[in-house]
Amino acid sequence: MPEKMLKFVNVDRRTPEKRAADVRRRDFEEIYRGFDADEAEVQASRCSQCGIPFCQVHCPVQNNIPDWLMLTAAGRMEEAYELSSATNTFPEICGRICPQDRLCEGNCVIERAGHGTVTIGAVESYITETAFANGWVKPPKPLRQLDQSVAVIGGGPAGLSAADRLRRKGYGVQLYDRYDRMGGLMIYGIPNFKLEKTVVKRRIELLEQGGVVFHRNFEVGRDATLQELRERHGAVLIATGVYKARDIKAPGVGLGNIVKALDYLIASNRKGLGDDVPAFDDGTLDADGRRVVVIGAGDTAMDCVRTAVRQGAESVTCLYRRDKANMPGSRREVQYAEEEGVRFTTLAMPAAFLGDDAVCAVRAQRVHLGVADASGRQTPEVIEGSEFNVDSDLVIKALGFEPEDVPTLFGAPELQTTRWGTVKVNYQTKMTNLDGVFAAGDIVRGASLVVWAIRDGRDAADQIDRYLRARQPARAQAAE
Ligand SMILES: Cc1cc2nc3c(=O)[nH]c(=O)nc-3n(C[C@H](O)[C@H](O)[C@H](O)COP(=O)(O)OP(=O)(O)OC[C@H]3O[C@@H](n4cnc5c(N)ncnc54)[C@H](O)[C@@H]3O)c2cc1C
Ligand code: SF4
Repeated sequence: MPEKMLKFVNVDRRTPEKRAADVRRRDFEEIYRGFDADEAEVQASRCSQCGIPFCQVHCPVQNNIPDWLMLTAAGRMEEAYELSSATNTFPEICGRICPQDRLCEGNCVIERAGHGTVTIGAVESYITETAFANGWVKPPKPLRQLDQSVAVIGGGPAGLSAADRLRRKGYGVQLYDRYDRMGGLMIYGIPNFKLEKTVVKRRIELLEQGGVVFHRNFEVGRDATLQELRERHGAVLIATGVYKARDIKAPGVGLGNIVKALDYLIASNRKGLGDDVPAFDDGTLDADGRRVVVIGAGDTAMDCVRTAVRQGAESVTCLYRRDKANMPGSRREVQYAEEEGVRFTTLAMPAAFLGDDAVCAVRAQRVHLGVADASGRQTPEVIEGSEFNVDSDLVIKALGFEPEDVPTLFGAPELQTTRWGTVKVNYQTKMTNLDGVFAAGDIVRGASLVVWAIRDGRDAADQIDRYLRARQPARAQAAE
């Protein structure tokens, strides 16, 4: 499409007031969608109870969706909650932030038949919110206390779901996190307009009431080595996520006001939590009134563009080197961003960053998609002489994350990793090459999803239980 037409298509003709009102309406809908009892029952009753539940097959925790939909439709909410919480440690969180269009809802038979999906995620949240309102959600109290303890490193969804499951089985659970709050990316990565922090905090309080011991501001590698934790506990779970941001190599990338996505999102989340954030207050990490360019088009990039809109950016442009069909993030997020006035400049990549001290524009160049590489994705190829500038005074790099060097950080060079730097585990036992050391979540899988981290944490907890039981034959036999 010619440049002129592209601009025309991208122009958002709403007044700033109208755009802000639309964003506020979207936030309300996104947070409270499906929380109305009538709506939940109507949606639940739309389920056709088809023979092969494709939704369940495509749910990472294999939720028994048709059955809890049926119970919801019948108003049997306590049973619906029991069933839904049997497979998912944090159903109300997944219901809010799973990319359902790629998972359960995208595979709903009614959706495939063209009649619009049952809003499974919204009903899942509704069931657990009802359970909270009625006092059915209880802390993970074990039937009996065991004398063995487990160290969990990392308080994200993988570590928290493992902690919940291990505690219910009776183990002493000590959870170590380098941040001042538990929750991992659910607290500091994912923006509040997608997942209210109170929802995560409520779960952490329950775990604490159930006896999980949290060690905040405790960085393994700095405050203890992996070996020291192995000596203190019967087993150790590594659930540290992936945090090393991928970077861009282009002239001018070191200019001021070019920031990393996670720094930007953490500042915004901390501000929302009421923290003192000097880098936000002095404007470094605040998009208010600025022309923002976000590079990348995954879920993190969508969170950045949508946060910038909410902070009052003058304009927000998403620069992506492939086309829309190849965007890695959720379609729904991209659609929301578009509706909120974000400009998508696809098939373009940064060639340089212009400015004296701070960035004033991104010099971009057009690309076309060439032959597919080993992964099957077409390689972007630069079109010579196609350079153009996008004015910007805040550039956010959102190109994805890689694992940190865990063996070095933990003072455990013998810990094996894969060629991608993720911690290597036996996929059946979830154990690393070190006896009694397990791993789960993004640090094993690479950057993924909350629901997969929950699943991995639960699976790892079951394997840790097996491991510890095997070391206490008398107890294992008595329990059987
Ligand atoms: C911006 C953003 C938005 C996202 N949005 C979504 C979404 O909408 N839906 C979705 O399903 N997924 C989303 N994800 C992905 C999801 O957040 C992750 O897949 C998930 O949080 C991984 O869980 P985890 O427990 O493995 O790691 P994390 O959540 O990263 O938690 C790891 C924890 O380990 C701690 N830690 C690390 N190193 C140490 C150490 N040395 N000592 C002690 N503690 C340590 C960290 O402080 C952190 O608290 C998003 C990710 C990002 C970055
Ligand atoms: S956990 Fe996620 S994929 Fe599974 S039913 Fe809930 S929203 Fe769908």
